[in-house]
Formats: sequence, C-alpha cells, structure tokens
Amino acid sequence: MSDVVPAPSQPRIPVRGQNLPADSTFPVRRIYCVGRNFAEHAREMGAAVPTSAADRGSPVFFCKPADAIVLDGVVPYPRGTRDLHHEVELVVAIGRDAPAGVLDVADADALVFGYAVGLDLTRRDLQGAAKAKGLPWDTGKAFDHSAPVSAIVPAADAGALGARTLSLKVNGETRQQGSLADLVWNVPEILHELSRLFALRAGDLVFMGTPAGVGPLQPGDRFDAELAGIATLQGHITA
Ligand code: MN
Repeated sequence: MSDVVPAPSQPRIPVRGQNLPADSTFPVRRIYCVGRNFAEHAREMGAAVPTSAADRGSPVFFCKPADAIVLDGVVPYPRGTRDLHHEVELVVAIGRDAPAGVLDVADADALVFGYAVGLDLTRRDLQGAAKAKGLPWDTGKAFDHSAPVSAIVPAADAGALGARTLSLKVNGETRQQGSLADLVWNVPEILHELSRLFALRAGDLVFMGTPAGVGPLQPGDRFDAELAGIATLQGHITA
C-alpha cells in the first residue's frame, strides 16, 4: 500500500486524569452535535419550545469534522461570514464502542469516558440562510476551527454532572450561563437517541447543546468558557 497523499493527522485532545500519565490523549473519531437542547436557547432562535418530556419530539443532530477541533484556543475569524456566534457546550467523550443495536438509556453512562467544555462556533448568517431555505446546516456549523475544546476530564474524576453550571465570558463579561439541569435531553438520553441513527464508537465526541445568550464574536475578542468544577477553556479570535 502506498498513500498518494499525506495521511491527515488525527486530532488528539489532552486528558487530565488523576490516575493517568500526564501526556494522555484522546484521539477524536467523530463529532456529533445536538441542537436546541436548552429551551431558552430554542426560544431565542425562534424555534418551537417543548412544554413537557412527552412533547420533546426527536433531538436535532448535526456533525462537525474531527479536524474542526482547536486545542490552543486560537480561532481565526472564519471566511464567508459576518456573524460568527459563540455557543458554549458540555462535551461528552465516548470511551467504548456501543454494543450492536439501540443503546438502552440505563447502559449509556458506561460508554462515557469523560467531559470537557467546548464552543460550537457558528456562522449564524449562513445557518440562518440555510434554515430559511430548508437546506442543511453544514456551511454554518462544520467549518475549520469551529470546535475549540478544553482538556478532557475522566468521568471518574469529574463526578456527577448534576446541575453544574455551564458559562461563557467574552472579554471578561458573562454572555452565557446555564444549568445542566435544564437540558431538554440529558446525556444518557442523547446517547440512546444517537444510537438509533449511528454506531457510537470510542473516540466520538458529543457537543450537548448551548444555553441561552448566544451572540457575536469579533476579531480580538477573548473567551473564557467553564464547566463548573470540571473544565475551563480560554482563547481568542484572530483577524
Ligand atoms: Mn450548538
């Protein structure tokens, strides 16, 4: 076998675990994302807001390429947009291949390796134009450098997610703050729903959706994201 082009390098996210070597990394296979997973964010986007668990319908999924990951926090302002938006999100790292078939909600936590905090950066103008025409969201969501992410903390070290706070400051000012208790679909429910559509495997990441308060980022802006008690992510937008 002889590759006719150089093999792409696989993104590897640092892992910060109490019982792991300091140079531990998590190789990324796929990135799944959940849309409209906080009611207040669905409302601010003008989408229908579920009023009960029975009224949730199905979650909204989309994907980013694995090489959209940014590890050093440095995000060049993307081409093709005049409205780059921040969406701070819980990121779930899958540590084991799912068994064949649909994953039971009760078995889902066993697949989780750990957690991080990340940004689902969005070219909101392109996403809005696609939505208006009933077209796919790829140009709005799946672009280069669209997924800055923190180091991953093993679930065993992180403890229960519970009602932890997810927050984002831009230039020191709080823009987004939400409780994981307000997720429309929690982590086991999302893994169950994903398994109805895709074969989840070790190395997959799931961006769990953003709380209200999304807004624009400009060149020069600094961002500080936090998943309380677990992970932080700092970075900035370059011209
Ligand atoms: Mn999002």
